[in-house]
Amino acid sequence: MNKNLFIAFEGIDGSGKSTQVKLLAERLTKEGHKVYSTFEPTDSDIGKLIRNIFSHKTQANHQTIAALFLADRFHHLLNKTDGLLKKLEDGYTVITDRYYFSSYAYHSVHMPMDWVIDINAPCTKLLRPDLNIYIDISPEESMNRITKAREKAELYETLENLTNVRNKYMEAFELKKTDEKVFITNGNRKPDLIAKDITTMILSL
Ligand code: ADP
Repeated sequence: MNKNLFIAFEGIDGSGKSTQVKLLAERLTKEGHKVYSTFEPTDSDIGKLIRNIFSHKTQANHQTIAALFLADRFHHLLNKTDGLLKKLEDGYTVITDRYYFSSYAYHSVHMPMDWVIDINAPCTKLLRPDLNIYIDISPEESMNRITKAREKAELYETLENLTNVRNKYMEAFELKKTDEKVFITNGNRKPDLIAKDITTMILSL
């Protein structure tokens, strides 16, 4: 790993993304890198609106949700305080829990994937991950983990939808295989084993 990288974690809900972001950040910090961890939807006002839709406090149609995610992503990329581009310019390795592949997978369950890819094209031009890491767990395991952690399911959290989302992720990776670097890792293992594979991969870049 010769330069500061931009790494995006992907996976269905409960796949272990935030666990692995934390483990990777700790490891890279130990190796002497400056690390900035972040997530989408962000905690900006746009991100808060998205969370209200998740928790059923606000309603919106699928196009509106996809557009809100895009607006939140622009804010994530471009804001001058702690935006992704600013942090990379300042020499941080940036690790994000979700980026545009999440949009490709989640929104294309309801709309054509091409439409989702097209509206996100400016983001791919602004910043493409050095590596997309997909943590692969079964939709059944995802539901097990979610129901342990929450009282009430959020939007997207049904077995049927998670199955569709996982399939859409695979479709998107296939579709984008010439443009994007994707590392798929088996998430049905102990967190430290998953972390070891991810670190080996990242340090080889
Ligand atoms: P995500 O950010 O993808 O939604 P989290 O990292 O928050 O996933 O993990 C969801 C739940 O599953 C948490 O309760 C976490 O402790 C647990 N978990 C994370 N990684 C693993 C793993 N490899 N095996 C079993 N449980 C895990």
